Amino acid sequence: MPKVLVLGGRFGALTAAYTLKRLVGSSADIKVINQSRFSYFRPALPHVAIGVRDVDELKIDLSEALPNKGIKFQEGKVQKIDAKNSKVIYTKSDGSTEEEDYDYVIVGIGAHLATELMKGWNEYGYSVCEPEFASKLREKLNEFKGGNITIGSGPFYQGHNPKPKVPENFVPNADSACEGPVFEMSLMLHGYFKKKGLLDKVKVTVFSPGEYLSDLSPQSRKAVASIYQQLGVKLVHNFRIKEIREHEIVDEKGNKLDSDLTIVLPPYTGNPALKNSTPDLVDDGGFIPTDLNMVSLKYDNVYAVGDSNSMTVPKLGYLAVMTGRIAAQHLANRLGVHTKIDSYYPTIVCVADNPYEGFAVSVKDDTWYGGSITVAEPAAVNHLKKELFTKYFMWTKGDMALEKFLASW
Ligand SMILES: Cc1cc2nc3c(=O)[nH]c(=O)nc-3n(C[C@H](O)[C@H](O)[C@H](O)COP(=O)(O)OP(=O)(O)OC[C@H]3O[C@@H](n4cnc5c(N)ncnc54)[C@H](O)[C@@H]3O)c2cc1C
Repeated sequence: MPKVLVLGGRFGALTAAYTLKRLVGSSADIKVINQSRFSYFRPALPHVAIGVRDVDELKIDLSEALPNKGIKFQEGKVQKIDAKNSKVIYTKSDGSTEEEDYDYVIVGIGAHLATELMKGWNEYGYSVCEPEFASKLREKLNEFKGGNITIGSGPFYQGHNPKPKVPENFVPNADSACEGPVFEMSLMLHGYFKKKGLLDKVKVTVFSPGEYLSDLSPQSRKAVASIYQQLGVKLVHNFRIKEIREHEIVDEKGNKLDSDLTIVLPPYTGNPALKNSTPDLVDDGGFIPTDLNMVSLKYDNVYAVGDSNSMTVPKLGYLAVMTGRIAAQHLANRLGVHTKIDSYYPTIVCVADNPYEGFAVSVKDDTWYGGSITVAEPAAVNHLKKELFTKYFMWTKGDMALEKFLASW
């Protein structure tokens, strides 16, 4: 029986594993390898930071959820993929190293959050990208009595060579990997401090390594600028953060911003396990270039999905789910199950929530790729969308089978 290894345990990898299992049933042996037994619903981690959700509500035990659906699970940290010999080398939780052969591998281990590229991160940096970061920020916000808050993303170290085999306009150059969480945090904090009666004591500045939200149309950016004007949020473009100090942040050119609390989406680089893999599997940034079916340009039995794939720009859950589904559909055909393969078409779909004020801004935009869809709407119903998205993910244990329908409302 063909053996399929799926690496990773969030949007990209889980979608690929569940979809493939649904399509091929028992005609393939499918095993997921993730560095932790647990997976967390990342888009609600900002909600943990402001105290409306607890980390445990967002936790999935993969060692139960996957075997319940007939998928094997192995906890292990991938060290490298030996694509020439079709092997994955990983370390188990007891420290031992394992080598596992595959007929096919689907790589969904995401990108690397390069906190080490920001001096002062350990002492003064805060984030919401992982459960432990969101919990630490929650404590800090609890005790925050006023001052300057900066929120922004670090630079994105995007790969460029070799390019994926997709239309040129599908992969724009991006200064930031994803500014959705930055936008969401800036909205949420307004509601949070309003509720605490501290709004007049807090000054929020949003910074961006390029032009803020450059992946949205000029019209949507204007709508965001007007929201920020109403909320009293200052916007600073072209600030590539390099250092975090106790009361200020510094960019690569030496510019400074006052900051008593710095919340950052860290710089994104390629995953170290991929940089360590067979060199021609990855591009110069450590991401895997593929064709539109998510098949590696160099290794026919390797698929890449989600943030690990060089074509997903920006690094979005919506694109991770789409690429995971396409990889599974394509592989199912190769395994003898004839099924329709969806077409990859990039669109920015995300919802920036503000639970304390009971609304969210829903964004749908493909103008960056040459399309004409551009929506950025604040509405109460969009807050319910985010709630439903969270509940759906937790209820299905990360199986986003209906996601393409949910995202179209
Ligand atoms: C705070 C925040 C909020 C967001 N909100 C949204 C949103 O509302 N909507 C949206 O569309 N996108 C959102 N995004 C973006 C979205 O979360 C990512 O694009 C998405 O998670 C990418 O999924 P992935 O599965 O490709 O990679 P990841 O989510 O990075 O998952 C990678 C998985 O691989 C595992 N892994 C990593 N390295 C190894 C290794 N060496 N060995 C084994 N396992 C490994 C990780 O533990 C993880 O389980 C948000 C991002 C952040 C940071």
